[in-house]
Amino acid sequence: DHVVSAYVTDAELDAEASVRPRRLAEFIAQHRVRDQLDLLLKGAMGRGTPPDHILLSGPPGLGKTTLANIVASELNAGIRTTSGPAIERSGDLAAILTSLAEGDVLFIDEIHRIAKPAEELLYSAMEDFRVDVVVGKGPGATAIPLDVEPFTLVGATTRSGLLTGPMRDRFGFVAHLDFYAPADLHLLLQRSARILGVPITEDGAAEIAGRSRGTPRIANRLLRRVRDFAEVRGSGVVDQATARAALKVYDVDERGLDRLDRAVLTALVDSFRGGPVGLSTLAVAVGEQSDTVEEVCEPFLVRAGLLARTPRGRVATEAGWRHLGRTPPETVVQ
Ligand code: ATP
Repeated sequence: DHVVSAYVTDAELDAEASVRPRRLAEFIAQHRVRDQLDLLLKGAMGRGTPPDHILLSGPPGLGKTTLANIVASELNAGIRTTSGPAIERSGDLAAILTSLAEGDVLFIDEIHRIAKPAEELLYSAMEDFRVDVVVGKGPGATAIPLDVEPFTLVGATTRSGLLTGPMRDRFGFVAHLDFYAPADLHLLLQRSARILGVPITEDGAAEIAGRSRGTPRIANRLLRRVRDFAEVRGSGVVDQATARAALKVYDVDERGLDRLDRAVLTALVDSFRGGPVGLSTLAVAVGEQSDTVEEVCEPFLVRAGLLARTPRGRVATEAGWRHLGRTPPETVVQ
């Protein structure tokens, strides 16, 4: 029920697919990455060879899966999709690799979570389009070399720092996706609304964009919630008043904080005079697990400049105090 989560649930996959861009030209913003990919793909197509392997890194919900699929469409190639945790044994990966057709795209999501033996198999596939499959055990084990058709690996990771050096080195193209500016999310929302047939005003789109935490997935989800509200309790049009009323129902405030985010900030300011306070004490104060506060709430509060992690504990920043409508003490963290 975390409406501002950057993660997708299975139930949302169809809704997401309906607004997913299929071509590079439809992919909103991220101009630098788009431009570089355009050159990479056109260059390779001109030469009739698969492009370099592509690594996409960045937080969840910013478009890595979308870009992987776009790479395949732009190349007019097939795509096979798997994920690091799904490849438990190197045999699983060998089966996928040897079944690829020439020019296919292999998309491995969460590639930093791939098992070590499978990762080593992937090295030779990426470099030489060849894998050695080991048959048997102990002294009788033999390596059978198998050819792999030339393919393009697209790897996605939310934790590029966890990738091993040899893995990273085998990607000829590395792109980092960044959070989107509100103006970009505004465009994205107008595009999604058009596809969904939802009338949306400029200020309606701006209102949702400002609450979407820089994340397309959240923007699209909030649009779906506001659309429901507009259709059930309004005139069907997503305007500013409707967006505000709908997002009040979902407890998403004007900066995109939800109930728990605000509870953390409020506890910090009200119960601990702005901190510093330890994570576990703060978590108890809001009745949550430390992990939840640390992994679900804090990253955004820190990014929004409302909370800071200091060696002595968590503190509310000046902007944090002001966000709650309070006057910060003079000693507050800027
Ligand atoms: P995860 O790592 O959780 O899978 P992701 O980075 O792969 O996330 P996607 O699934 O590609 O994210 O994107 C989430 C949603 O946001 C999709 O519905 C996608 O259509 C939309 N989206 C993402 N980026 C863009 C963009 N630049 N333009 C238009 N829509 C986008």
